[in-house]
Amino acid sequence: MKGASHLKTADYWNTLPDGVIECGLCPHHCRLHEGQTGRCRVRTVSGGELKAMGYGLLSSAHIDPVEKKPLYHFHPGSPIFSLGGWGCNFGCIFCQNWTISQDFRESATIHTPEQMVRAMRDDGCSLIAYTYNEPLVGFEFVRDCSRLVRADGGKNVLVTNGFVEERPAGELLPLIDALNVDIKSMDEAFYHKYCKGALSPVLRFCKQSAKAGCHLEVTNLIIPGLNDTDEGFEGLAAWIRDELGPLTPLHLSAYHPDYRLEMPPTPRETLERAWEICSRALSYVYMGNLPVKGGQDTHCPGCGSVLIERRGYQTTVGGIRAGSCARCGRRADVIT
Ligand code: SF4
Repeated sequence: MKGASHLKTADYWNTLPDGVIECGLCPHHCRLHEGQTGRCRVRTVSGGELKAMGYGLLSSAHIDPVEKKPLYHFHPGSPIFSLGGWGCNFGCIFCQNWTISQDFRESATIHTPEQMVRAMRDDGCSLIAYTYNEPLVGFEFVRDCSRLVRADGGKNVLVTNGFVEERPAGELLPLIDALNVDIKSMDEAFYHKYCKGALSPVLRFCKQSAKAGCHLEVTNLIIPGLNDTDEGFEGLAAWIRDELGPLTPLHLSAYHPDYRLEMPPTPRETLERAWEICSRALSYVYMGNLPVKGGQDTHCPGCGSVLIERRGYQTTVGGIRAGSCARCGRRADVIT
């Protein structure tokens, strides 16, 4: 179906005494009059109800290696059917996907959850990712797809900024097998100034995801001059170690100029310094978006041998036998 107006009644909203509709999906709690649209661009008031405008409206659907999400400890080397929609509840000035996160195309092709599960299977995938834009602003579609995927024996992956309220997260997380969550900085002021968001709900969501038993990996995009201090890296790694556990994979990612930020890309030395610092607290720290030899390999924390070797998106799981390190026998912290 193309070009149709596709509005579905949203979940998680209420009508205030003055008739204004308040959305309760994310911590922005947008208050909207008839015809107004929330900060995410995909939830609007129509006919006295909050509607999900983006239900089934895709910006893209691709098969990616699961490493591209990035997830390094979840079915390494597997293809993952990856869906993107429109909109985001952040406004990061460095967004690398701003053409879809800061836009909404009603003319995009509409898909049903049933079609998505069929397409995933037809393409030979058993994993599906909700990714590219911020999937949680399309909560209803992600939840409905996730239910069908789970019933069909597949696995659901969320790639998210983690800026969502506890109740909707509590409904969705039991359906989610793995997540990659961005922690962009440990500084609230950074989130307010550069992302038009807030840090504390993101940290709460990470803890809620881990408590729900989901496999969780964290990404930190390093931007020179904005979030690249030693103290910042120490704080990030210490928080992950203390709240999520020292075995939580951390992906340190190099920034490239995009959207409204034009400063030069992250130098290799900064990425390596961050890796050194974070590796003191965490067992699995990776370097991405810049080719650093060995920076994407998984090493056994017991004996140091290479468990998984990655060259670009070529993945070789050579050091794991029957779920354990082939050299020292330590159980590998990898879901296969
Ligand atoms: S999900 Fe969208 S409409 Fe709802 S509170 Fe967040 S930004 Fe506003």
